[in-house]
Amino acid sequence: MTTSDPEADLPQDPIARAVLSLPPLRDAIAAAGLSAKKSLGQNFLLDLNLTRRIARAAGLVPGGLETGTTIEIGPGPGGLTRALLIQGATKLVAVERDERAITALSTLVEASDGRLELVCADALDVDPEDLGPAPRRIVANLPYNVGTRLLLNWLETPEQFASFTLMFQREVAERLVAPTGGEAYGRLSVLAQWLCRVKILFDVPATAFTPPPKIKSSVVQLIPREAPLAPADRADLERVTAAAFAQRRKMLRQSLKGLGGDALLERAGIKPTERPEQLSIEDFCRIANAL
Ligand code: SAM
Repeated sequence: MTTSDPEADLPQDPIARAVLSLPPLRDAIAAAGLSAKKSLGQNFLLDLNLTRRIARAAGLVPGGLETGTTIEIGPGPGGLTRALLIQGATKLVAVERDERAITALSTLVEASDGRLELVCADALDVDPEDLGPAPRRIVANLPYNVGTRLLLNWLETPEQFASFTLMFQREVAERLVAPTGGEAYGRLSVLAQWLCRVKILFDVPATAFTPPPKIKSSVVQLIPREAPLAPADRADLERVTAAAFAQRRKMLRQSLKGLGGDALLERAGIKPTERPEQLSIEDFCRIANAL
């Protein structure tokens, strides 16, 4: 006869075991009075299977020889934070602006035995370089109201990061991965794909969140390229895409009039009758270089 060992399913890592034995997240939320605030984009993930899936997608492997820093933005009550620790994050820095969440996370900080550090701040004001050494991985269920702005800030210095594994509303995820000619193709697609390889990993239904948002969400991964897809000055590229997509139904000769119109397009070897969604990222770079 075999006897089943109740410890058999528990991980070897003592920190993972300590985290798994913490009281349920709902208790931490109740004790800290962490009722979700819409103004802070608070939609919490409480299902450990889902949060561990996100942590695994970020490349964390229990017992893996992880180096550098894992950065979480907006840990809230700590569902994803717990998963990151269970999956073996050894240096995890979480940036949260809601002080109630900082209180809710105190037992997790203790259980982490120095692996988790909290920074109480607005992530928009934080330079990730100050949070810990490279390689830096950002993993987050982002607050929807500042998610795109945060990503654009981080993409100012993509070389600082090894990867971004981020939850976005589905509509933003579609813009990030949209190919040339796609309906969602626009400024964000060009900039993100110019700098990174981008893919949607999986969708997450609204019902997975507490409270459920009105929209669907997706986990997106961005891996910075060693060099941008084609050479161009970023500020020029952004000027060109801003002007081109501001009037996406118009021909480029019209929308780029202020930047040089036909003459500019001729120098870049692009037909002035094209519309912006027909141009590849390399085409936009050629126009930026012709500016
Ligand atoms: N990570 C938690 C989870 O998955 O359950 C919470 C995610 S919730 C969508 C977004 C979190 O970001 C909230 O905890 C909110 O307080 C925090 N937050 C909102 N704006 C922020 C900002 N500017 N800087 C840092 N944290 C922010």
